[in-house]
Amino acid sequence: MFTRREALRLAVVSAAGAALVPSVMAQQDDTFFTWKPAAGAKVAFGYGGNALVLAGKDAALLVDCKNAPFGDCLRREAGPALKHVVNTHHHADHTGGNHAFTKDIKLIAQINATPRILGQMNRYVSQLKEAITQLADAKGPAADQVRAEARAVYARVEHLKATDFVPAITFDTDEKLDVGGIEVNLHHYGPGHTDNDLVVHVPSKNLLHTGDLLFHQRHPYIDLDGGASTEGWVKNLAKLIALCDAKTVVVPGHGEITNVEGLKGQVRYFEVAKAAIEKAYKAGKSRKEVAEMSIPELGTLEGDGIRPIAFGAMYDELKHANAK
Ligand SMILES: [Zn+2]
Repeated sequence: MFTRREALRLAVVSAAGAALVPSVMAQQDDTFFTWKPAAGAKVAFGYGGNALVLAGKDAALLVDCKNAPFGDCLRREAGPALKHVVNTHHHADHTGGNHAFTKDIKLIAQINATPRILGQMNRYVSQLKEAITQLADAKGPAADQVRAEARAVYARVEHLKATDFVPAITFDTDEKLDVGGIEVNLHHYGPGHTDNDLVVHVPSKNLLHTGDLLFHQRHPYIDLDGGASTEGWVKNLAKLIALCDAKTVVVPGHGEITNVEGLKGQVRYFEVAKAAIEKAYKAGKSRKEVAEMSIPELGTLEGDGIRPIAFGAMYDELKHANAK
């Protein structure tokens, strides 16, 4: 059973997760995920954060593993050359599928991810439960296979252990991989979206996977309990912008593939939202009022269900800073 606090947390994260599930289950002919090309790599959309597959000569890299029910499917569609798997941070929509890889591939993450992954087994279990409903209307052979896989994982859920989800290799600030002759750099720039974000930079392809440091044209999920800091987040974004030129292909954690302008848009989001929230805070608005306010200057964004969570978190940060 969950404690009341855990249940509340679950409800919030589920609401956020639900908003990230595409309303139309877009599918290509023979794959379950919608795959799109990105600078010689490919990106899988739907059922969790954007997952990237980069193939070198005799090895491939997977970045992020989607929700728990979809790990087996992701592994199948990523192809047999997979040698490296990276988690951009601990959130369950990026690590839920880890169980499909940990037996024979050494997963890589930032060092602060491990205890958080170990502590969220309940999230993975609820993802497996939710999948049965989520997949109810999905049609076609690929969906049938995924539905069967999700049921099979759920059937052995009692045998799944938190250690089936944890990375085998961790690092603090920087790590370098050789993916079949392609140099891949992992960087952690301090707290941002969580306290364990890493970005994946492929200089020879001019390609960057930002993890959830970028919610492209969406309200961002700000997880203060997971170590988020919007001040740190903006500092992270400055580092990412410095890695880019005008041609860099930028793969966000959520939203469509973009370029450096997407990163600048995320910086603007925080500038605009924080200014409006600070003004409301100083005018004596309550947390509830701030969480529910609308900020027209932000324009139309996806993920409106996350908006009150985002604004509420920024209110909490402001209150905390003023209490010092
Ligand atoms: Zn996240």
